[in-house]
Amino acid sequence: MATGPKLKFCPESNDLLYPKEDRERKVLIFHCRNCGYQEDADPSNYCVYRNEITHTSKEKTVILQDVRADPTLPRTRDVTCEACQHNEAVFFSASTEEGMTLFFNCTKCGNRWQDRI
Ligand SMILES: [Zn+2]
Ligand SMILES: [Zn+2]
Repeated sequence: MATGPKLKFCPESNDLLYPKEDRERKVLIFHCRNCGYQEDADPSNYCVYRNEITHTSKEKTVILQDVRADPTLPRTRDVTCEACQHNEAVFFSASTEEGMTLFFNCTKCGNRWQDRI
């Protein structure tokens, strides 16, 4: 048996399935970024995921959220996303253990990164 976290693959396209939260039903699901296939996570994975969220710092919980759709947050075109080279990102600041940090969320691919202020 393999050890460590189990990777799940899409039965339709064989791509890696990514965990995300179904906000309406408040459950964890796995989804395929390629074809859109999704399935509910099994309860044991679900528990691990919830624990992770509970035990991480408040700031990390903030980073986990996809803030691209939040109209109250400012946008900047002075950045370049490392993942897709897009030049627009939503950004917000939060205080972390290292001090004030700017968080960026690429508006195209959702990639997140951070900068110390
Ligand atoms: Zn797929
Ligand atoms: Zn991007």
